[in-house]
Amino acid sequence: MKKLEKAQPFSCSTGLTVEYSTLSSEEQEKILHLQQAILESVARGADHMEVINQVCRLEEQLLPNAVGSVMLMDDAYEFLNVYAAPSIPSEGVAQLNGLRPGPGGGSCGNVIYRQEAQFVSNTFTDPRWRDLRNLAYNFNLCACWSVPIYSGERKVVGTFALSSFEYRSPSPFHRKLLEIGSSIIGIVLERNKSQESLRLFQKVFEGSEEGIMITDPNKAILLVNPAFTKVTGYTIDELLGETPKKLASGHHDRGFYAAMWSSINLFGHWHGEIWNRRKTGEVFPEWLAISAVNDLTDNTTHYIGIFSDISERKNAEAQIRHLSSHDLLTGLPNRMLLKDRLENAIAFAAGGHCKVALLSLDLDQFKMLNDSLGHAAGDDLLRCVTSQLKNFVRDTDTLCRSGGDEFFIALANMPDTDSISAIVDEILEQISKPFLLEGRHLSLSCSIGIAVYPDDGGDFETLMKLADKAMYQAKDAGRNTYRYFTEQLNSDSLEFMRITHELREAVKCNQFTVHFQPQIDLATGDVVGAEALVRWNHPVEGLVQPGRFINIAEQTGLIVEIGEWVLHEACRQAAAWRQAGLPPLVMAVNMSAVQFKRGNVENLLHSALESSGLDPQSLEIELTESILLHDMDYMLSLLNSLKDIGLKLAIDDFGTGYSSLAYLKKFKIDRLKIDQSFVRDIAIDPNDAAIVRAIVQMAHTLNLRVIAEGVENEETQQYLSSCQCDEVQGYHYAKPMPPEAFAAFILNKV
Ligand code: C2E
Ligand code: MG
Ligand code: MG
Repeated sequence: MKKLEKAQPFSCSTGLTVEYSTLSSEEQEKILHLQQAILESVARGADHMEVINQVCRLEEQLLPNAVGSVMLMDDAYEFLNVYAAPSIPSEGVAQLNGLRPGPGGGSCGNVIYRQEAQFVSNTFTDPRWRDLRNLAYNFNLCACWSVPIYSGERKVVGTFALSSFEYRSPSPFHRKLLEIGSSIIGIVLERNKSQESLRLFQKVFEGSEEGIMITDPNKAILLVNPAFTKVTGYTIDELLGETPKKLASGHHDRGFYAAMWSSINLFGHWHGEIWNRRKTGEVFPEWLAISAVNDLTDNTTHYIGIFSDISERKNAEAQIRHLSSHDLLTGLPNRMLLKDRLENAIAFAAGGHCKVALLSLDLDQFKMLNDSLGHAAGDDLLRCVTSQLKNFVRDTDTLCRSGGDEFFIALANMPDTDSISAIVDEILEQISKPFLLEGRHLSLSCSIGIAVYPDDGGDFETLMKLADKAMYQAKDAGRNTYRYFTEQLNSDSLEFMRITHELREAVKCNQFTVHFQPQIDLATGDVVGAEALVRWNHPVEGLVQPGRFINIAEQTGLIVEIGEWVLHEACRQAAAWRQAGLPPLVMAVNMSAVQFKRGNVENLLHSALESSGLDPQSLEIELTESILLHDMDYMLSLLNSLKDIGLKLAIDDFGTGYSSLAYLKKFKIDRLKIDQSFVRDIAIDPNDAAIVRAIVQMAHTLNLRVIAEGVENEETQQYLSSCQCDEVQGYHYAKPMPPEAFAAFILNKV
């Protein structure tokens, strides 16, 4: 804020100073009259223009055959303009306006140029009138005397001139006239200026939205404006003579005020945020600027304080800060705040010898609960969980909800992993206790992944990623448990990403090939079928077995495209062998559950059969039990329609899943493939032997044929014969082989 300064005493000097004693008594009397007349006008409160015009006229009367004029410099201090010239016709005024001060700029132009009075007795010959000769001719101006008008700051702001229609030089009396004229005009102009700024100040003071307080140098309150009263509740009557201490909130210590006053004393001002108290007792924040007002001798005469109430802004700021760092539903810190807190905990742990654990916690089956109970109840559930979890976090820990049913907990300052595990055990136990929600008892569980600083990583992003990975591991391990991150998890996922990337390429470049393994009728020894088994012709690693990539292809969905290709290829091959005169075979093709979920199996089969021309009877689809359980009604109708076109259906890896023969009756299954894990040890494990025998018997009662896979030796074959197993497949007969080798194998047998 600009300092208010007391105006300097008005200057009365033109730089001439004519002694009264040099004037005749008659002249002295004239001058006295002049001053008296003007004083009367001023006392009357006459307008400043009126007074200035009066000065000109009175002086014209005292100097016959002459005209008075006042010219002022413009704001940019470049040109002189006529301010008052009551006796000069308007054409003359127009020609004078915009006069540029300079050595040829006439008497007035030279006053500004030389900063002193100029007395030109002959305007037609004097070089100072060089540029204004025309004016002199036009108006018959023969002589022109001009003196400076000073501002309060003793700056030459304009000129007062007497121009004559005759050649003449000024007498001391004339000089006195000019001196008095310019002095009075200077005062009148100055007074007008300060009245103007006083009016302006009054307007600002009354109308300001900001509270304004003015004190004396002892800080006693002199004046407050309406906005001040509105914000603080105090009127001037209640504050007069009090100091601003009356408003103190008690929120700031002595040091604060001491620093504030030393800034005011040293620099003349201070600004900043301060808490004050309203009349109601309410404390509020304000943005306050205080300035000291000094006089010419640098003594402080007043202090002015201007403030705005920033409660609303502060509230909004605090709200925004809270919203941007907290979760709306639970009020817990969000990921951003967690990051901040975790980084602090790490910085602290780095100094001492302790650990920081980041727990990634995911509720088990929350989605199911949320869907069945409704979202409002789901929200309540999350709030319940939140309040339970809060029991485990200390002040130094951070519990965060990062979205959905995912929570993170940063445990700071942990001495070792045992103490981390102890807390995690407790969390698991507490969460699994039944909740009461809308009058219902509900049971929950959660899976927790843990990453530890400094063991696993040193920054938020890394720990977060690793804790998440470990959490998925806990889920895979059957949920309701926790897992620490291990390096193995990391390399597994890197391998996963690498293979995914390469598989995409493989699909694009068609790097797959199909091998065929014969299926043999145990009673006759004839080859009755072939299982199509895919291989990946990897450009670097050579032939890669499906065990390495089928799983990943299923997780990424790439199995849909791979499976389509295999089916087309297997059908094409089977039809080609048939055409080439090989004995009839049933071609068995594996189909993944993902193909049933994501692909259009029915269309695919139609198109494979159509493009190959293969008889549907010669195609068998191998399914796993889990496919049947997924959306049973849909599968039932789909498999029925596949049966209608004549396809065969087999259950692969039987024994490893639900092994429920009851539901198999619903589906029109043709064959069961006993999983090789039972077949492998038939000869040495009586349990496996018993299981295989039971499966064969039950299947036969349901009119299903049975094929045993993984037959590797004669003993196994003999046991299977004794059980009346229908068919066999295994290394004992042949490994899966490329099509040419397979054809040769068949031709050899017949
Ligand atoms: P699966 O369908 O149960 O196929 C039988 C697996 O047992 C084949 O492994 C076969 O090579 C192997 N095998 C056959 N006889 C013996 C034996 O006597 N001893 C031993 N130790 N193993 C034997 P492969 O070719 O590595 O395929 C593995 C699995 O990959 C298959 O198991 C199947 O689930 C899947 N798979 C293969 N090709 C495809 C395909 O085109 N689509 C889909 N979705 N899955 C496929
Ligand atoms: Mg199979
Ligand atoms: Mg199998």
